[in-house]
Amino acid sequence: MRVLRSIDELRSIRAHSIANAQKFGFVPTMGALHLGHAELMKVASDQSDISIASIFINPKQFNSASDLAKYPRTIDDDLAICTECKVDYVYLPEISDVYPEGFDTSITPGSLGSLFEGASRPGHFSGMATVVVKLFNIVQPDVAFFGKKDYQQLAIIRRFVTDLNFPIQIQGVETIRELDGLALSSRNAQLTKEERIEAPRFYEILKVFNRTFTSTESLNDAIAAALNEFQGLDHFQLDYFEIADQATLQPSRDISKPLVALGAILGSQVRLIDNQELQ
Ligand code: AMP
Repeated sequence: MRVLRSIDELRSIRAHSIANAQKFGFVPTMGALHLGHAELMKVASDQSDISIASIFINPKQFNSASDLAKYPRTIDDDLAICTECKVDYVYLPEISDVYPEGFDTSITPGSLGSLFEGASRPGHFSGMATVVVKLFNIVQPDVAFFGKKDYQQLAIIRRFVTDLNFPIQIQGVETIRELDGLALSSRNAQLTKEERIEAPRFYEILKVFNRTFTSTESLNDAIAAALNEFQGLDHFQLDYFEIADQATLQPSRDISKPLVALGAILGSQVRLIDNQELQ
């Protein structure tokens, strides 16, 4: 595993891989790596001739300076995880390469960006899309891997890759969870002891919900039951729980189509998101 810090260095490796028809697989991250990121890197290294991860805490996708300041920074551990996962390269962009003096462009997702997380975190998806577009143009991967944990992020990326004709295949990777079902997240470390004990209820509610409907009527009953369960949580407040079309994320009750249940709950310091594709 080799660390790259400059665009020129990266471009010359990329040019070499294109000349040799090697498939270039890319995993963008913000560091504070855990087993969820590790899974993305393992899949990338298995499915690509050359795999590259990036670690860049993107200031533009945070809603507040305090949220950015408290985001964990664990670069030594992160590089050890990248080595274990056998990625070939880790790109650590300089802030001045990503946002040089005078930078004045942003990518703003359409309707997909204003729902759910977009409503709760104004500007977040524009910041995310802007940095992912930049990283795609810098790295020029053949395939890029993203976690289904951030379901709306993945849907937005698929949309702009299609809309803007990026020649990049986007691959979603299943959510990696703690043994008790809590989706791994760099933010879980900010849960209080009581919140950590109750947090796995989130996924349990989603799983039970997924099992308890077979028709539109029973879907409505299952939604009411799930909302009731969310309201019964002691340490979290429900931000949203909605059933949506898997591709457009428009709220839907049409159970003949692929649907996903998406939710967010608020603890004292931290907001958790999770989702479940419905079968
Ligand atoms: P982040 O560093 O939070 O920007 O995440 C980088 C990538 O890791 C994104 O594609 C996330 O969706 C993915 N990711 C984060 N948590 C998990 C998880 N628990 N399981 C699978 N992928 C994840």
